[in-house]
Amino acid sequence: MTDRKYIIVGNWKMNLNVSEASILVHRLHQKIKIHRGVDIVLAPPLIDIQPLSLEIDRRQFKLAAQDAYYKDNGAYTGQVSFTMLRDLVSYCIVGHSERKIYFNETLEDVREKVSAAIRNDIIPIICIGETKLERNSGETKTVINDQLTTAIANLTSHEIQNVILTYEPVWAISTFDGEIAKPKDIEQAIGFMRLTIEHLYGKVVAENVRIIYGGSVDENNAGLFLDIDGCDGALVGSASLNYYKFSEIIEKASQIYLKRSKK
Ligand code: PEP
Repeated sequence: MTDRKYIIVGNWKMNLNVSEASILVHRLHQKIKIHRGVDIVLAPPLIDIQPLSLEIDRRQFKLAAQDAYYKDNGAYTGQVSFTMLRDLVSYCIVGHSERKIYFNETLEDVREKVSAAIRNDIIPIICIGETKLERNSGETKTVINDQLTTAIANLTSHEIQNVILTYEPVWAISTFDGEIAKPKDIEQAIGFMRLTIEHLYGKVVAENVRIIYGGSVDENNAGLFLDIDGCDGALVGSASLNYYKFSEIIEKASQIYLKRSKK
């Protein structure tokens, strides 16, 4: 048993305006207790972050941005930097497959964003995962290795222990193919990611890094995914927009954490 806490991240994507976001947070406050073994992170759209930062109970929830630009400031019309977000959020999702697919984000962009996050005391939640085509061509490990090693290329062994790595196969995301991944495949991918960290930074560091799973996690299947050996939580898309579903996922994480810590 390691003492890694679970982390459940709700990625609201481009959903919920300021008042809708406020209603959801109000419901989450009512429904979710403080759980000792589970960090709960909400990633609302950028425009909701400032008002929510005044509304949330920070003992219970932390905020994440869904993306930010890696330059600290300057003539970059339309962008918002990690520097501007540092007082508002604790985390930022980096390298989500929707950013790569719809906005042509490259692995080098991801690396720069990871560095910018760390420089600004924001914990990056780094998304890594293969497409269906890559999996079917037997390239899963190569893709994971490329994405992971590029993303963390600038990090020291102290810094890497603070990041959250997410195994999120593109084909399992509900808004793409939404195929339900097999726990065995997830366990292998997470195991491979931890081994890659071990080769680069050593066993102790690798054991401290939290690696979570993302892809069609909901209130019915969460237990299955969260019980996977080496899996420290979930990145939840669609189900995080529903307070009942999201709170059930957190309840499951809490139950499994307690079960594990008794072993
Ligand atoms: C996501 O896109 O980060 C995600 C996990 O989405 P969903 O849970 O809807 O598959």
